[in-house]
Amino acid sequence: MKENRILMQYFEWYLKPEDKLWQQVSREAKNLSETGITDIWLPPAYKGAGGKYDAGYSAYDLYDLGEFNQKGSIETKYGTKDEYLQAINDLHENSIDVYADIVLNHKIGADEAEYVLASEEESQNRNKDKTLPKKIKAWTKYNFTVRNNKYSDFKWNYNHFNGTDWDESGRKNGIFRFSGKHWDQNVDQENGNYDYLMGADIDFNNSEVVEELQKWGKWYINFTGVDGFRLDAVKHIKSTFMANWIKTMREIKPLKCVGEYWNRDMEALKWYIYKTNSTIPLFDVPLHYNLYEASNSNGNFDMSKILDNTLVKQYPELAVTFVDNHDTEPGQALFSWIQDWFKPLAYALILLRKEGLPCIFYGDYYGIPSHNINSMKETIDKMIAVRKNYAYGEQIDYFDNYNIISWVRTGDDIHPMSGFVVIMSDGPGGGKTINVGSKLANKVFYDYTGNVKETVYVDQEGNGIFYCNGGSVSIWVKK
Ligand code: CA
Ligand code: CA
Repeated sequence: MKENRILMQYFEWYLKPEDKLWQQVSREAKNLSETGITDIWLPPAYKGAGGKYDAGYSAYDLYDLGEFNQKGSIETKYGTKDEYLQAINDLHENSIDVYADIVLNHKIGADEAEYVLASEEESQNRNKDKTLPKKIKAWTKYNFTVRNNKYSDFKWNYNHFNGTDWDESGRKNGIFRFSGKHWDQNVDQENGNYDYLMGADIDFNNSEVVEELQKWGKWYINFTGVDGFRLDAVKHIKSTFMANWIKTMREIKPLKCVGEYWNRDMEALKWYIYKTNSTIPLFDVPLHYNLYEASNSNGNFDMSKILDNTLVKQYPELAVTFVDNHDTEPGQALFSWIQDWFKPLAYALILLRKEGLPCIFYGDYYGIPSHNINSMKETIDKMIAVRKNYAYGEQIDYFDNYNIISWVRTGDDIHPMSGFVVIMSDGPGGGKTINVGSKLANKVFYDYTGNVKETVYVDQEGNGIFYCNGGSVSIWVKK
């Protein structure tokens, strides 16, 4: 078991088919492993409604990993099935575990539309019908004729869904609940009931659906050899279904997983953790929003509260901490991009803390050329090196100031170089007297980031005055 694991989200929204991501993964696997990445989250690998221009979240055929000429191409946005399997293989050769991104909430891009009775719902209160049941034409028939029953002969139709957002006969948008169906109660409570997100919403109370998705999950694990799942849009999926599904999949092997429950309210996350019996770690969305607010407050954020009301503080063993992702990028659905100046502070807060599994975003690491966002590779690589080589021993916090906060890792005996002091400010620069403990006493420290040039001497008692610049972070290690 490797210590100090680091997950990386290996894609951003604006990648193009020409970027051939799976091939890039194969090329980079060795470098990533040597840098210190232990786990990689790859984007949805199956065919979306948009074919090779689909980021993968408009799930069409879960069995088409870039193998069948469906939706205009054999390959997906990221490449072919063989390239995907090769990429996973190359990551495994380099001791990196792979998380597959899976979208189970909905399907989009049906082969045929069919008539079904449905009531239109109030969009802000989905528990309320706006109309009596009437006949609509819904895109709910999935035949996959090109795949021709390879891997599975399951065909989807309106019985397998709760509702949709488009009536083809009336050419009308809305939220339509199919007659005889109800929104599941074990979902997020925003908009009255947030079961419905997009496309044709899958009905997890249908036993054929449950059986087929279990069959598919087992197929996926055996076919691809992935080590875990990133579960998309779990707040829209019956929580008890998700927990049972993961439990069944874990009978095959001890799968890792992380759920995307996009809500900054800890009460909602607590409810989900309770409902899923603490078996599904979640992205720390509240932490992301704290970082976002701090980055937009020009120093007027109380840094002593930066970890307040977060998953990593309240449920550290279930927290996957992150700075930004493909949805928070400029121009995307959950736009909440953390400003440049704060990014190093944010990465220190996820990579150099003891708690949480940190997840590095591809768009930060390599940059996002289409939106003039620069690569932070040099900064992130330094912090990864610190996590790998120095982040051991007890953690002591100095979250005691409106602007300048700090924490210490005291080092341990197994890693002779280990131990550090992180100090950061969202406002003016300054210093803080820190006690680093006995292992680091009577030593000279330097700033690994190079932001502060002077050295710091720690006395016999382990006390030293450490510094950072304004709106900056410094990481002090033994010289
Ligand atoms: Ca749903
Ligand atoms: Ca402040």
